[in-house]
Amino acid sequence: MTSTTPFVTDLLIIGGGINGAGIAADAAGRGLSVVLCEQGDLGSATSSSSSKLIHGGLRYLEQREFRLVYAALKEREVLLKKAPHIMRPLRFRLPHQPHLRPQWLIRLGLFIYDRLAKRNQLEPSRKIHCDASGPLSADIKTCFEYSDAWVDDARLVVLNALAARDKGASIRPRTTFLHADQQQQHWLAKIQSQHGKTETIRARAIVNAAGPWVMSTLHNVAPSDNAHSMRLVKGSHIVVPKLYSAEHAYILQHEDQRIVFVIPYENYFSLIGTTDVDFNGDPGDVQISDNEKKYLLSIVNRYFTTQTSIADIVHTFSGVRPLLEEENTSAQAVTRGYKLTLSGSTEEAVLMNVFGGKITTYRRLAEQAVNKLARYFPAATHAWTATVPLPGGSFDSKSALRSEYQQRFPWLADDLCGEYVCRYGRLCEQFLDDTSSMAALGEHFGHNLYQTEVDYLHDKEWAQTVEDILWRRTKKGLLFSAEQVNHLQHYLSTLMN
Ligand SMILES: Cc1cc2nc3c(=O)[nH]c(=O)nc-3n(C[C@H](O)[C@H](O)[C@H](O)COP(=O)(O)OP(=O)(O)OC[C@H]3O[C@@H](n4cnc5c(N)ncnc54)[C@H](O)[C@@H]3O)c2cc1C
Repeated sequence: MTSTTPFVTDLLIIGGGINGAGIAADAAGRGLSVVLCEQGDLGSATSSSSSKLIHGGLRYLEQREFRLVYAALKEREVLLKKAPHIMRPLRFRLPHQPHLRPQWLIRLGLFIYDRLAKRNQLEPSRKIHCDASGPLSADIKTCFEYSDAWVDDARLVVLNALAARDKGASIRPRTTFLHADQQQQHWLAKIQSQHGKTETIRARAIVNAAGPWVMSTLHNVAPSDNAHSMRLVKGSHIVVPKLYSAEHAYILQHEDQRIVFVIPYENYFSLIGTTDVDFNGDPGDVQISDNEKKYLLSIVNRYFTTQTSIADIVHTFSGVRPLLEEENTSAQAVTRGYKLTLSGSTEEAVLMNVFGGKITTYRRLAEQAVNKLARYFPAATHAWTATVPLPGGSFDSKSALRSEYQQRFPWLADDLCGEYVCRYGRLCEQFLDDTSSMAALGEHFGHNLYQTEVDYLHDKEWAQTVEDILWRRTKKGLLFSAEQVNHLQHYLSTLMN
Protein backbone atom coordinates (compact mmCIF):
# COMPACT_ATOMS: atom_id res chain seq x y z
CA MET A 1 0.00 0.00 0.00
CA THR A 2 1.39 3.40 -0.93
CA SER A 3 -0.11 6.85 -0.69
CA THR A 4 1.02 8.85 -3.75
CA THR A 5 0.20 12.49 -2.94
CA PRO A 6 3.01 13.79 -0.74
CA PHE A 7 2.13 15.16 2.70
CA VAL A 8 3.73 18.61 2.84
CA THR A 9 5.47 19.83 5.99
CA ASP A 10 8.21 22.21 7.13
CA LEU A 11 10.03 19.63 9.26
CA LEU A 12 10.24 15.88 9.20
CA ILE A 13 11.74 14.68 12.46
CA ILE A 14 13.12 11.15 12.55
CA GLY A 15 13.06 9.68 16.05
CA GLY A 16 10.61 9.97 18.92
CA GLY A 17 13.10 9.88 21.77
CA ILE A 18 13.53 12.87 24.04
CA ASN A 19 15.48 14.89 21.47
CA GLY A 20 13.06 14.33 18.58
CA ALA A 21 10.00 14.95 20.78
CA GLY A 22 11.63 18.06 22.33
CA ILE A 23 12.45 19.51 18.92
CA ALA A 24 8.91 18.72 17.67
CA ALA A 25 7.35 20.60 20.61
CA ASP A 26 9.66 23.59 20.27
CA ALA A 27 9.26 23.88 16.49
CA ALA A 28 5.48 23.39 16.48
CA GLY A 29 5.18 26.08 19.17
CA ARG A 30 7.04 28.50 16.90
CA GLY A 31 4.52 27.95 14.12
CA LEU A 32 6.36 25.36 11.99
CA SER A 33 4.45 22.42 10.59
CA VAL A 34 5.97 19.21 11.91
CA VAL A 35 5.76 15.48 11.23
CA LEU A 36 7.57 13.22 13.71
CA CYS A 37 8.04 9.54 12.89
CA GLU A 38 9.16 6.98 15.45
CA GLN A 39 9.76 3.39 14.42
CA GLY A 40 8.57 1.97 17.76
CA ASP A 41 6.69 3.42 20.71
CA LEU A 42 7.59 6.96 21.77
CA GLY A 43 10.65 6.87 24.03
CA SER A 44 11.08 3.14 23.54
CA ALA A 45 14.87 3.26 22.99
CA THR A 46 17.50 5.15 25.01
CA SER A 47 15.09 7.70 26.43
CA SER A 48 13.32 5.17 28.65
CA SER A 49 16.52 3.36 29.67
CA SER A 50 18.29 6.18 31.46
CA SER A 51 19.06 6.54 35.17
CA LYS A 52 16.23 9.12 35.14
CA LEU A 53 18.33 11.87 36.67
CA ILE A 54 18.15 15.51 35.82
CA HIS A 55 21.64 16.27 36.99
CA GLY A 56 24.66 18.39 36.35
CA GLY A 57 26.83 15.31 36.66
CA LEU A 58 29.21 15.76 39.57
CA ARG A 59 31.79 13.51 37.96
CA TYR A 60 31.94 15.61 34.78
CA LEU A 61 33.59 18.34 36.89
CA GLU A 62 36.64 16.07 37.18
CA GLN A 63 36.71 15.90 33.37
CA ARG A 64 36.61 19.72 33.39
CA GLU A 65 33.33 19.77 31.45
CA PHE A 66 32.31 23.00 33.27
CA ARG A 67 30.18 24.27 30.43
CA LEU A 68 28.19 21.03 30.21
CA VAL A 69 27.72 20.92 33.99
CA TYR A 70 26.66 24.58 34.12
CA ALA A 71 24.07 24.13 31.35
CA ALA A 72 22.72 20.97 32.97
CA LEU A 73 22.53 22.50 36.46
CA LYS A 74 20.55 25.43 35.08
CA GLU A 75 18.10 23.08 33.36
CA ARG A 76 17.30 21.35 36.68
CA GLU A 77 15.47 24.44 37.91
CA VAL A 78 13.80 25.09 34.55
CA LEU A 79 12.51 21.53 34.26
CA LEU A 80 11.33 21.31 37.89
CA LYS A 81 8.95 24.16 37.07
CA LYS A 82 8.04 22.83 33.63
CA ALA A 83 7.22 19.30 34.69
CA PRO A 84 6.45 19.33 38.46
CA HIS A 85 4.26 16.22 38.09
CA ILE A 86 6.88 13.84 36.71
CA MET A 87 9.93 15.40 38.40
CA ARG A 88 11.09 15.79 41.99
CA PRO A 89 14.20 17.02 43.78
CA LEU A 90 16.40 14.16 44.95
CA ARG A 91 19.06 14.23 47.67
CA PHE A 92 22.15 12.11 47.06
CA ARG A 93 24.53 10.69 49.68
CA LEU A 94 28.09 10.07 48.68
CA PRO A 95 29.70 7.71 51.23
CA HIS A 96 33.37 8.42 51.76
CA GLN A 97 35.96 5.66 51.80
CA PRO A 98 39.64 6.41 52.42
CA HIS A 99 40.95 4.63 49.31
CA LEU A 100 38.78 6.74 46.97
CA ARG A 101 38.78 10.44 46.05
CA PRO A 102 40.09 12.50 49.01
CA GLN A 103 37.57 14.44 51.13
CA TRP A 104 39.02 17.81 50.15
CA LEU A 105 38.46 17.04 46.45
CA ILE A 106 34.85 16.02 47.05
CA ARG A 107 34.20 19.15 49.12
CA LEU A 108 35.72 21.30 46.39
CA GLY A 109 33.61 19.57 43.74
CA LEU A 110 30.43 20.07 45.78
CA PHE A 111 31.32 23.71 46.51
CA ILE A 112 31.51 24.32 42.74
CA TYR A 113 28.41 22.19 42.06
CA ASP A 114 26.38 24.21 44.60
CA ARG A 115 27.41 27.55 43.13
CA LEU A 116 27.86 27.02 39.40
CA ALA A 117 24.21 27.78 38.58
CA LYS A 118 21.33 29.45 40.42
CA ARG A 119 19.49 27.12 42.78
CA ASN A 120 15.99 28.06 44.04
CA GLN A 121 14.33 24.76 44.73
CA LEU A 122 17.29 22.59 45.65
CA GLU A 123 19.12 22.49 48.98
CA PRO A 124 22.91 22.95 49.26
CA SER A 125 25.39 20.19 50.00
CA ARG A 126 26.55 19.22 53.50
CA LYS A 127 28.72 16.71 55.28
CA ILE A 128 27.02 14.15 57.53
CA HIS A 129 28.18 11.46 59.94
CA CYS A 130 26.89 7.94 59.39
CA ASP A 131 26.18 5.58 62.29
CA ALA A 132 25.60 1.87 62.55
CA SER A 133 21.79 2.29 62.44
CA GLY A 134 21.93 3.20 58.72
CA PRO A 135 21.99 0.82 55.74
CA LEU A 136 25.72 1.29 55.01
CA SER A 137 28.49 -0.98 56.21
CA ALA A 138 29.93 -0.04 59.59
CA ASP A 139 33.31 1.17 58.30
CA ILE A 140 31.66 4.11 56.50
CA LYS A 141 31.62 7.03 58.94
CA THR A 142 31.14 10.04 56.62
CA CYS A 143 28.82 10.91 53.75
CA PHE A 144 28.49 14.04 51.65
CA GLU A 145 24.96 15.03 50.73
CA TYR A 146 23.91 17.14 47.73
CA SER A 147 20.90 17.82 45.50
CA ASP A 148 19.90 16.83 41.97
CA ALA A 149 16.54 15.80 40.53
CA TRP A 150 14.66 12.73 39.31
CA VAL A 151 12.37 12.47 36.28
CA ASP A 152 10.15 9.85 34.69
CA ASP A 153 12.12 9.80 31.44
CA ALA A 154 9.56 7.90 29.31
CA ARG A 155 6.74 10.22 30.38
CA LEU A 156 8.91 13.25 29.67
CA VAL A 157 9.07 12.08 26.04
CA VAL A 158 5.29 11.56 25.87
CA LEU A 159 4.59 14.98 27.43
CA ASN A 160 6.77 16.64 24.80
CA ALA A 161 4.96 14.72 22.06
CA LEU A 162 1.62 15.84 23.56
CA ALA A 163 2.87 19.46 23.66
CA ALA A 164 3.90 19.14 20.01
CA ARG A 165 0.53 17.66 19.04
CA ASP A 166 -1.33 20.40 20.97
CA LYS A 167 0.55 22.89 18.77
CA GLY A 168 -0.45 21.09 15.57
CA ALA A 169 2.36 18.55 15.00
CA SER A 170 1.56 15.18 13.47
CA ILE A 171 3.08 12.55 15.79
CA ARG A 172 3.44 9.12 14.21
CA PRO A 173 4.70 6.32 16.42
CA ARG A 174 5.30 2.89 14.85
CA THR A 175 6.28 4.57 11.62
CA THR A 176 9.73 3.99 10.17
CA PHE A 177 11.68 6.47 8.09
CA LEU A 178 13.02 4.57 5.06
CA HIS A 179 14.99 7.03 2.93
CA ALA A 180 14.88 10.52 1.44
CA ASP A 181 15.76 12.03 -1.93
CA GLN A 182 16.92 15.59 -2.14
CA GLN A 183 14.94 17.78 -4.56
CA GLN A 184 15.98 21.40 -4.94
CA GLN A 185 14.47 23.11 -1.92
CA HIS A 186 12.93 20.13 -0.23
CA TRP A 187 13.18 16.43 0.54
CA LEU A 188 10.91 13.68 -0.66
CA ALA A 189 11.02 11.17 2.17
CA LYS A 190 9.44 7.72 2.42
CA ILE A 191 8.01 6.56 5.72
CA GLN A 192 6.26 3.28 6.47
CA SER A 193 3.64 2.44 9.09
CA GLN A 194 3.68 -0.80 11.11
CA HIS A 195 0.98 -2.13 8.80
CA GLY A 196 3.26 -1.72 5.77
CA LYS A 197 1.63 1.41 4.38
CA THR A 198 4.22 3.75 2.85
CA GLU A 199 3.75 7.48 2.53
CA THR A 200 5.75 10.26 0.91
CA ILE A 201 6.52 13.34 2.97
CA ARG A 202 7.65 16.50 1.25
CA ALA A 203 9.69 18.39 3.83
CA ARG A 204 11.73 21.58 3.69
CA ALA A 205 14.02 20.21 6.42
CA ILE A 206 14.80 16.81 7.90
CA VAL A 207 15.93 16.50 11.51
CA ASN A 208 17.78 13.27 12.15
CA ALA A 209 17.21 12.65 15.88
CA ALA A 210 17.56 8.87 15.64
CA GLY A 211 19.81 8.56 18.73
CA PRO A 212 21.91 5.39 18.45
CA TRP A 213 20.68 4.99 14.86
CA VAL A 214 21.83 8.47 13.84
CA MET A 215 24.59 7.20 11.54
CA SER A 216 22.48 4.59 9.71
CA THR A 217 19.72 7.16 9.28
CA LEU A 218 22.21 9.69 7.94
CA HIS A 219 23.29 7.07 5.43
CA ASN A 220 19.68 6.86 4.18
CA VAL A 221 19.49 10.65 3.71
CA ALA A 222 22.97 11.66 2.61
CA PRO A 223 24.95 8.49 1.70
CA SER A 224 28.09 10.44 0.82
CA ASP A 225 28.37 12.19 4.20
CA ASN A 226 31.31 10.50 5.97
CA ALA A 227 32.37 13.41 8.14
CA HIS A 228 30.84 12.19 11.40
CA SER A 229 31.34 9.29 13.76
CA MET A 230 29.63 8.19 16.94
CA ARG A 231 30.55 5.94 19.81
CA LEU A 232 27.84 3.65 21.13
CA VAL A 233 28.12 2.77 24.81
CA LYS A 234 25.76 0.34 26.53
CA GLY A 235 24.53 1.14 30.03
CA SER A 236 22.49 -1.26 32.17
CA HIS A 237 20.44 -1.07 35.35
CA ILE A 238 19.12 -3.66 37.77
CA VAL A 239 16.04 -3.32 39.98
CA VAL A 240 16.02 -5.08 43.37
CA PRO A 241 13.70 -4.97 46.41
CA LYS A 242 14.28 -1.75 48.32
CA LEU A 243 17.68 -1.71 50.05
CA TYR A 244 16.63 0.94 52.60
CA SER A 245 13.52 2.93 53.45
CA ALA A 246 14.74 6.57 53.27
CA GLU A 247 13.98 8.75 50.25
CA HIS A 248 17.52 9.79 49.32
CA ALA A 249 19.69 8.14 46.69
CA TYR A 250 23.31 7.02 46.99
CA ILE A 251 26.19 7.70 44.65
CA LEU A 252 28.86 5.03 45.11
CA GLN A 253 32.42 5.30 43.89
CA HIS A 254 33.92 2.08 42.56
CA GLU A 255 37.62 1.29 42.74
CA ASP A 256 37.83 1.76 38.96
CA GLN A 257 36.75 5.40 39.63
CA ARG A 258 33.34 4.82 38.01
CA ILE A 259 30.27 5.80 39.94
CA VAL A 260 27.06 3.82 40.42
CA PHE A 261 23.72 5.21 41.63
CA VAL A 262 21.27 3.51 43.99
CA ILE A 263 17.93 5.27 43.62
CA PRO A 264 14.59 4.70 45.40
CA TYR A 265 12.28 3.35 42.69
CA GLU A 266 8.52 2.91 42.46
CA ASN A 267 7.93 2.67 46.25
CA TYR A 268 9.12 -0.90 46.75
CA PHE A 269 12.39 -1.09 44.84
CA SER A 270 15.92 0.27 44.43
CA LEU A 271 17.25 1.08 40.96
CA ILE A 272 20.98 0.40 40.59
CA GLY A 273 23.08 1.57 37.66
CA THR A 274 24.78 2.08 35.46
CA THR A 275 27.54 0.39 33.50
CA ASP A 276 29.57 1.70 30.51
CA VAL A 277 30.38 -0.96 27.89
CA ASP A 278 31.38 -0.23 24.29
CA PHE A 279 28.65 -1.56 22.00
CA ASN A 280 28.72 -2.62 18.35
CA GLY A 281 25.45 -4.53 17.95
CA ASP A 282 21.91 -3.60 16.97
CA PRO A 283 20.70 -0.84 19.35
CA GLY A 284 17.22 -2.37 19.12
CA ASP A 285 18.45 -5.54 20.76
CA VAL A 286 20.39 -4.60 23.86
CA GLN A 287 20.48 -6.59 27.09
CA ILE A 288 22.38 -6.70 30.34
CA SER A 289 25.16 -9.31 30.58
CA ASP A 290 25.94 -11.46 33.61
CA ASN A 291 29.18 -9.51 34.05
CA GLU A 292 27.29 -6.24 34.28
CA LYS A 293 24.93 -7.72 36.88
CA LYS A 294 27.90 -8.96 38.93
CA TYR A 295 29.66 -5.60 38.60
CA LEU A 296 26.63 -3.67 39.89
CA LEU A 297 26.01 -6.13 42.72
CA SER A 298 29.65 -6.11 43.78
CA ILE A 299 29.66 -2.39 44.44
CA VAL A 300 26.31 -2.42 46.24
CA ASN A 301 27.41 -5.33 48.42
CA ARG A 302 30.58 -3.51 49.26
CA TYR A 303 28.76 -0.45 50.57
CA PHE A 304 25.51 -1.85 52.04
CA THR A 305 25.04 -4.23 54.94
CA THR A 306 22.13 -5.98 53.16
CA GLN A 307 23.76 -8.42 50.73
CA THR A 308 22.04 -8.77 47.35
CA SER A 309 22.45 -11.63 44.88
CA ILE A 310 21.52 -12.24 41.25
CA ALA A 311 18.42 -14.11 42.48
CA ASP A 312 17.13 -10.87 44.08
CA ILE A 313 17.05 -9.00 40.76
CA VAL A 314 13.42 -8.41 39.77
CA HIS A 315 14.00 -6.46 36.56
CA THR A 316 16.80 -5.17 34.34
CA PHE A 317 16.97 -2.70 31.48
CA SER A 318 19.71 -1.55 29.15
CA GLY A 319 20.13 1.32 26.74
CA VAL A 320 22.71 2.55 24.26
CA ARG A 321 24.18 6.00 24.72
CA PRO A 322 24.85 7.73 21.42
CA LEU A 323 28.04 9.62 22.31
CA LEU A 324 30.29 11.94 20.36
CA GLU A 325 33.43 10.07 19.34
CA GLU A 326 36.64 11.13 21.12
CA GLU A 327 39.92 9.41 20.42
CA ASN A 328 41.78 7.50 23.18
CA THR A 329 39.00 7.95 25.70
CA SER A 330 37.45 5.28 27.92
CA ALA A 331 33.70 4.60 27.60
CA GLN A 332 32.83 6.35 30.88
CA ALA A 333 34.96 9.40 30.05
CA VAL A 334 33.48 10.14 26.61
CA THR A 335 31.72 13.51 26.69
CA ARG A 336 27.97 13.62 27.34
CA GLY A 337 27.78 16.88 25.39
CA TYR A 338 25.98 17.21 22.06
CA LYS A 339 26.56 18.54 18.58
CA LEU A 340 24.03 19.80 16.04
CA THR A 341 25.13 19.81 12.41
CA LEU A 342 23.26 21.66 9.70
CA SER A 343 23.68 21.44 5.94
CA GLY A 344 21.84 23.09 3.06
CA SER A 345 21.75 26.72 1.95
CA THR A 346 18.55 28.79 1.84
CA GLU A 347 18.15 27.53 -1.75
CA GLU A 348 18.50 23.87 -0.80
CA ALA A 349 16.79 21.19 1.23
CA VAL A 350 18.04 21.31 4.82
CA LEU A 351 19.41 18.48 6.96
CA MET A 352 20.08 18.67 10.68
CA ASN A 353 21.73 15.83 12.61
CA VAL A 354 21.58 15.53 16.38
CA PHE A 355 24.64 13.82 17.89
CA GLY A 356 24.82 12.94 21.59
CA GLY A 357 23.02 14.70 24.43
CA LYS A 358 21.41 13.95 27.77
CA ILE A 359 17.82 13.84 29.01
CA THR A 360 18.78 16.75 31.29
CA THR A 361 19.69 19.10 28.45
CA TYR A 362 17.03 18.06 25.91
CA ARG A 363 15.05 21.33 26.17
CA ARG A 364 18.13 23.43 25.58
CA LEU A 365 19.23 21.17 22.71
CA ALA A 366 15.77 21.48 21.14
CA GLU A 367 15.79 25.26 21.52
CA GLN A 368 19.21 25.55 19.90
CA ALA A 369 18.18 23.19 17.10
CA VAL A 370 15.11 25.26 16.24
CA ASN A 371 17.06 28.54 16.60
CA LYS A 372 19.42 27.21 13.93
CA LEU A 373 16.56 26.04 11.71
CA ALA A 374 14.66 29.31 12.09
CA ARG A 375 16.70 31.07 9.43
CA TYR A 376 15.08 28.84 6.82
CA PHE A 377 11.62 29.69 8.17
CA PRO A 378 11.37 33.48 8.42
CA ALA A 379 7.88 33.29 9.95
CA ALA A 380 9.12 31.22 12.90
CA THR A 381 8.44 32.91 16.24
CA HIS A 382 10.71 33.17 19.29
CA ALA A 383 11.92 30.49 21.69
CA TRP A 384 9.19 29.76 24.26
CA THR A 385 9.82 26.49 26.08
CA ALA A 386 11.82 27.76 29.09
CA THR A 387 8.80 29.08 30.95
CA VAL A 388 5.77 27.20 29.62
CA PRO A 389 4.80 24.06 31.58
CA LEU A 390 4.52 20.72 29.81
CA PRO A 391 0.97 19.31 29.48
CA GLY A 392 -0.50 18.66 32.93
CA GLY A 393 2.20 20.73 34.64
CA SER A 394 0.28 23.95 35.39
CA PHE A 395 0.26 23.78 39.17
CA ASP A 396 2.47 24.97 42.01
CA SER A 397 3.03 21.91 44.12
CA LYS A 398 1.99 18.27 44.12
CA SER A 399 0.56 18.59 47.62
CA ALA A 400 -1.62 21.56 46.62
CA LEU A 401 -2.89 19.70 43.55
CA ARG A 402 -3.60 16.60 45.62
CA SER A 403 -5.64 18.69 48.11
CA GLU A 404 -7.53 20.28 45.22
CA TYR A 405 -8.40 16.83 43.82
CA GLN A 406 -9.44 15.54 47.25
CA GLN A 407 -12.09 18.29 47.19
CA ARG A 408 -13.04 17.84 43.54
CA PHE A 409 -13.02 14.04 43.47
CA PRO A 410 -13.79 13.09 47.10
CA TRP A 411 -14.63 9.52 46.07
CA LEU A 412 -11.11 8.93 44.67
CA ALA A 413 -8.92 6.67 46.85
CA ASP A 414 -6.12 8.72 48.37
CA ASP A 415 -3.23 6.57 47.13
CA LEU A 416 -4.65 6.56 43.61
CA CYS A 417 -5.03 10.33 43.73
CA GLY A 418 -1.32 10.56 44.66
CA GLU A 419 -0.38 8.30 41.74
CA TYR A 420 -2.40 10.34 39.24
CA VAL A 421 -0.85 13.60 40.44
CA CYS A 422 2.67 12.22 39.97
CA ARG A 423 1.97 10.57 36.64
CA TYR A 424 -0.35 13.06 34.94
CA GLY A 425 -0.64 16.28 36.94
CA ARG A 426 -3.70 18.06 35.52
CA LEU A 427 -3.91 15.67 32.55
CA CYS A 428 -5.78 13.17 34.75
CA GLU A 429 -8.75 15.55 34.69
CA GLN A 430 -9.28 14.29 31.14
CA PHE A 431 -10.42 10.94 32.52
CA LEU A 432 -11.62 11.95 36.00
CA ASP A 433 -13.95 14.81 35.07
CA ASP A 434 -16.63 12.49 33.71
CA THR A 435 -16.32 10.04 36.57
CA SER A 436 -18.06 10.18 39.93
CA SER A 437 -17.15 7.02 41.85
CA MET A 438 -14.46 4.36 42.11
CA ALA A 439 -16.85 1.94 40.38
CA ALA A 440 -17.08 4.33 37.42
CA LEU A 441 -13.31 3.96 36.85
CA GLY A 442 -14.27 0.65 35.24
CA GLU A 443 -12.46 -2.65 35.24
CA HIS A 444 -9.55 -3.01 37.67
CA PHE A 445 -6.56 -4.69 36.01
CA GLY A 446 -4.57 -4.80 39.24
CA HIS A 447 -2.25 -2.56 41.25
CA ASN A 448 -4.42 0.55 40.86
CA LEU A 449 -4.62 0.36 37.06
CA TYR A 450 -8.23 1.01 36.01
CA GLN A 451 -9.98 0.90 32.67
CA THR A 452 -10.49 4.68 32.38
CA GLU A 453 -6.73 5.24 32.67
CA VAL A 454 -6.00 2.52 30.11
CA ASP A 455 -8.58 4.03 27.73
CA TYR A 456 -7.03 7.47 28.18
CA LEU A 457 -3.54 6.12 27.45
CA HIS A 458 -4.80 4.33 24.38
CA ASP A 459 -6.88 7.24 23.04
CA LYS A 460 -4.65 10.20 23.94
CA GLU A 461 -1.09 8.99 24.58
CA TRP A 462 -0.53 6.60 21.64
CA ALA A 463 -0.31 3.48 23.88
CA GLN A 464 -1.11 0.27 22.02
CA THR A 465 0.63 -2.60 23.76
CA VAL A 466 0.97 -3.88 27.31
CA GLU A 467 4.65 -2.87 27.16
CA ASP A 468 3.67 0.72 26.35
CA ILE A 469 1.33 0.81 29.33
CA LEU A 470 3.18 -1.29 31.89
CA TRP A 471 6.76 -0.17 31.24
CA ARG A 472 6.65 3.35 29.75
CA ARG A 473 3.35 5.22 30.50
CA THR A 474 3.46 3.57 33.96
CA LYS A 475 5.99 1.24 35.62
CA LYS A 476 3.35 -1.23 36.77
CA GLY A 477 5.16 -4.03 34.95
CA LEU A 478 7.22 -4.33 38.13
CA LEU A 479 4.11 -5.42 40.02
CA PHE A 480 1.90 -7.23 37.50
CA SER A 481 1.65 -11.03 37.50
CA ALA A 482 1.66 -12.97 34.20
CA GLU A 483 -2.08 -13.49 34.59
CA GLN A 484 -2.71 -9.76 35.03
CA VAL A 485 -0.58 -9.01 31.97
CA ASN A 486 -2.66 -11.47 29.91
CA HIS A 487 -5.87 -9.90 31.13
CA LEU A 488 -4.68 -6.41 30.13
CA GLN A 489 -3.43 -7.77 26.80
CA HIS A 490 -6.88 -9.21 26.12
CA TYR A 491 -8.56 -5.89 26.93
CA LEU A 492 -6.16 -3.95 24.67
CA SER A 493 -6.86 -6.31 21.79
CA THR A 494 -10.57 -5.45 22.11
CA LEU A 495 -9.68 -1.75 21.88
CA MET A 496 -7.59 -2.30 18.76
CA ASN A 497 -10.40 -4.10 16.90
C1 LIG B 1 22.20 3.73 30.73
C2 LIG B 1 21.94 5.16 30.44
C3 LIG B 1 21.74 6.05 31.50
C4 LIG B 1 21.49 7.40 31.23
N1 LIG B 1 21.21 8.21 32.29
C5 LIG B 1 20.93 9.51 32.06
C6 LIG B 1 20.53 10.35 33.13
O1 LIG B 1 20.37 9.91 34.28
N2 LIG B 1 20.31 11.65 32.86
C7 LIG B 1 20.43 12.17 31.60
O2 LIG B 1 20.25 13.37 31.45
N3 LIG B 1 20.77 11.38 30.54
C8 LIG B 1 21.00 10.07 30.74
N4 LIG B 1 21.31 9.24 29.70
C9 LIG B 1 21.39 9.81 28.33
C10 LIG B 1 20.01 9.91 27.69
O3 LIG B 1 19.21 8.81 28.01
C11 LIG B 1 20.17 10.01 26.17
O4 LIG B 1 21.09 11.01 25.85
C12 LIG B 1 18.86 10.35 25.49
O5 LIG B 1 17.82 9.50 25.93
C13 LIG B 1 19.03 10.25 23.98
O6 LIG B 1 17.79 10.59 23.40
P1 LIG B 1 17.60 10.52 21.84
O7 LIG B 1 16.27 11.09 21.55
O8 LIG B 1 18.78 11.13 21.16
O9 LIG B 1 17.69 8.97 21.49
P2 LIG B 1 16.58 7.82 21.63
O10 LIG B 1 15.79 7.92 22.87
O11 LIG B 1 17.27 6.52 21.39
O12 LIG B 1 15.60 8.15 20.44
C14 LIG B 1 15.91 7.92 19.10
C15 LIG B 1 14.69 7.29 18.46
O13 LIG B 1 14.85 7.23 17.07
C16 LIG B 1 14.09 6.13 16.62
N5 LIG B 1 14.52 5.77 15.27
C17 LIG B 1 15.74 5.33 14.89
N6 LIG B 1 15.75 5.09 13.56
C18 LIG B 1 14.51 5.40 13.10
C19 LIG B 1 13.89 5.36 11.82
N7 LIG B 1 14.56 4.94 10.72
N8 LIG B 1 12.60 5.73 11.69
C20 LIG B 1 11.89 6.15 12.77
N9 LIG B 1 12.43 6.20 14.02
C21 LIG B 1 13.72 5.83 14.19
C22 LIG B 1 14.38 5.06 17.66
O14 LIG B 1 13.40 4.05 17.68
C23 LIG B 1 14.45 5.87 18.94
O15 LIG B 1 13.24 5.80 19.68
C24 LIG B 1 21.51 7.88 29.91
C25 LIG B 1 21.72 7.00 28.85
C26 LIG B 1 21.90 5.64 29.11
C27 LIG B 1 22.06 4.69 27.98
